[in-house]
Amino acid sequence: MSLHIVRVVLDAPIDRSFDYRYQPSDGDEGMPQVGQLVAVPFGRRSVVGLVVSTGSSTDVPPEKLKDIAHCYHNIPSFDKAWLDLCRFAASYYHRALGEVALNVLPKIIRQNKQKSIEKALGALDRMPKGKTAISVGKPVLNASQQQAANTIINATGFSAFLLYGVTGSGKTEVYLRAVAEKLSRSPDAQVLLMVPEINLTPQLEERVHSRFPEENIALLHSGLSEGQRLRNWLAAMTGTARIILGTRLSVMVPAPNLSLIVVDEEHDPSYKQQEGLRYSARDLAVWRANYLKIPIVLGSATPSLESWRHVQMGRYQQMELPERAMENVSHPEVSLIDTSSEPVVDGLTQPLVAAIQKRLGKNEISLLFLNRRGFAPVISCNACGWMSTCHRCSAYMVYHKTGRLLRCHHCGLARIIPKCCPDCGNLDLQALGQGTQRIEENIRHLFPEARVQRIDADSTSRKGALQQAFDSIYRGETDIVIGTQMIAKGHDFQNLTLVGVLDPDTALFSHDYRAGERLFAQLMQVAGRAGRNAMKADANPAQVMIQTRYPKHPLYQAMCQRRYDAYIHELMEERKMAGFPPFGYQALLMAEAKDINKAMAFLQVAKSLLAKHHGITVSDAIPMAVMRVANVERAQLLVESVSRPLLQSALSDWLPQLKAQKTQVRWSIEIDPLSI
Ligand SMILES: [Zn+2]
Ligand SMILES: [Zn+2]
Repeated sequence: MSLHIVRVVLDAPIDRSFDYRYQPSDGDEGMPQVGQLVAVPFGRRSVVGLVVSTGSSTDVPPEKLKDIAHCYHNIPSFDKAWLDLCRFAASYYHRALGEVALNVLPKIIRQNKQKSIEKALGALDRMPKGKTAISVGKPVLNASQQQAANTIINATGFSAFLLYGVTGSGKTEVYLRAVAEKLSRSPDAQVLLMVPEINLTPQLEERVHSRFPEENIALLHSGLSEGQRLRNWLAAMTGTARIILGTRLSVMVPAPNLSLIVVDEEHDPSYKQQEGLRYSARDLAVWRANYLKIPIVLGSATPSLESWRHVQMGRYQQMELPERAMENVSHPEVSLIDTSSEPVVDGLTQPLVAAIQKRLGKNEISLLFLNRRGFAPVISCNACGWMSTCHRCSAYMVYHKTGRLLRCHHCGLARIIPKCCPDCGNLDLQALGQGTQRIEENIRHLFPEARVQRIDADSTSRKGALQQAFDSIYRGETDIVIGTQMIAKGHDFQNLTLVGVLDPDTALFSHDYRAGERLFAQLMQVAGRAGRNAMKADANPAQVMIQTRYPKHPLYQAMCQRRYDAYIHELMEERKMAGFPPFGYQALLMAEAKDINKAMAFLQVAKSLLAKHHGITVSDAIPMAVMRVANVERAQLLVESVSRPLLQSALSDWLPQLKAQKTQVRWSIEIDPLSI
C-alpha cells in the first residue's frame, strides 16, 4: 500500500514544515490538496496546518509519523497566488511561512470551530449574488478626474498610479469609476479598496453601497466581531463579495479574481503594522498588484517620499487632480501666527480667538487641532522642581482632569493626582502645557454660549461614541470642535470655515527624520477640512491659522504658499544627502531587557556579526527615544544599505546567527521601519 504524505506549515516562528500521513477512509473527500487547511496533532494539542506539498515519501520514521486529524474540505483551498503572497511576505519580513499564513486567518478557522464555520458558510449560500454591476447616481467628473479615471480603466497588466490631489479634489470618485468599469467587464471580477483607519470605513462603505446597491461588500477591519470577520473573509475568498473594503489587514485576504486595488491615503503610517509581522500593507498591495498583473491606484494629497521616488524613477505614473471638484469651493487661505511676538494665553492667541468669534452665530464651525490629549502633559512643583514622571517609563505622566488622574500614555499606568508634592510637601502643583481637555475648558470659558465637542481617544473610548460625536457635527449641533489627529482624516463637515492649529512645532525638532514629513501630511489633511462645501455668499472665507514660533520654517512656508511639492522636493534633497529612504534601505533591530546594559551588549554582539558584510552600514547601538516602558528597557541598532538586495541577503545570513545566540534579551527585527 502506498503512503500518502501531507506536508504542512504551522503557526510557529520556526521556518520548517512537518509531515503527516493521510489515511483514506470511507466517505471522506480524498487526499488534501496544496493550499488546503487541515487539523493535525502537535504535541498534545490539535492545531491547524496549511498544506504546502503532498507526496509519497518522508524522512519521518514510521513509528513517529502521525495521521492528520481532519481536513477542512468545506473551505476552498487557497490558490497559488495567495500562497505566493504569504511566501513573499515571509521572506521579505524574515518570518516563517506558517507564522504569516496562519496568522492572517480568522480566529474561528485557526481554532477549528467547525460549527461556527458551517454557520458562516450557510449564511454565505443565502447571500444574494450581485454581479450586475449596476452603478447609480454618478456625478459629472471634471476634466482631470475624467482623464485619471480613463487612464486607470484603459491600463492593461500591472500599472501603479499615484493619484495626487488635494483634499476635496474628488479622488474617491475616480476610484469608484474605475471600480464600476472593472466590475462591469467580468462577472467574477473583484476589487480591493483600502483605507488607513477603521473610522473611515463607514462613510466609504455607505458611498460604495449607494453606488453599487446590488453588490455584496466584504468589510474587513479589526473592529468586527469574529463571526462577522469570518463571514466577510469567506465572502471575499469565495468570490461572493466582489467589493472588499478594509484597513491594512485586508491586504492579505484571499480573493481569487482580484482585478483592481486602491490604497487611499497611501502615505498614512497606519498602513504599517507595528507589532508581530511588521508589514507595510501599501507595499504588499503593490507587490500583489504586480504579481497579479493588475492596476493599483495609490491616492494622496501628500504622497509618501517612497511613492514620489517611484514616480521619478518611472515605476509609477503620476496623475494630478489640481482643483477642488465642486464649484464655488476654493482652497482655504493659510496664515501663520508668530507666537514669539503674539502672546499665547491658555494656548490661544488673540487673532485666533477673534476668528472663532466671527464664526459663532453664523452657524459656521471652527476646528482646533492639537495632537496631545489629556489636560496637561506634565505637572510640576514650583518649589522643588518635582515633575510627574512615570516610575515604570522614561516619560511624564499626563494630567487628566476627569477623575483627577495622572496617566502614563506609554504603559497605561494611572494614579490619583497627589494632593501635595511627593518630594517636598508643597501644596502648589502646577499643570504645565496644554492638552485637548485644557483647550476645551478654556474655550468653554471664553465662549460660554458655544456648543463645543472634543474628539480624542479619551472622549471616544466608549463604543459608538466617536460616531455620535461626528453625527452631532453633521447635524449642525456643534460650533467648535477640538481634537487630535482623529479629526484630521476624511471627515467632511458642512460649514467648517476655520481650522486653528495649536502647538505643532515639537515635530520640527524630533530625532526621527520622518517627523517633518508626518507633520506636513497631518497639517495638510487638517487644513483640508476647511471650506469643503460650497458656502453661502455671506459666509466667512475658509481660513487656516497656524500658531507657531517658527513661521519661517520651510514646512509652514510651503503650507502658506500652497507649494506642497516644493516642500517634498526639499525633503527629498535632505534624504538624498543623508542616504535615508527612499534613497537607502533600512532594518531596525530592537532589543528589550530589564537592564539597558544587557540590551546594549546584545546589540554590540549583533553588530560585530554583521562586520564582514560589505555594502552594509551599521550605526551604533542606542537606547530608544523612550528608553524604558513598563520597566522594560529598550535599545536599537539601525542597519542600512543603498541596495535592497544587499540588505536582504545580509539579513538572511545574520538573523539565523542571532537566533542561535543564547540570550535572555528579547529582540525583533523590523524591515523598512517608519520611525527610528
Ligand atoms: Zn516639591
Ligand atoms: Zn509608564
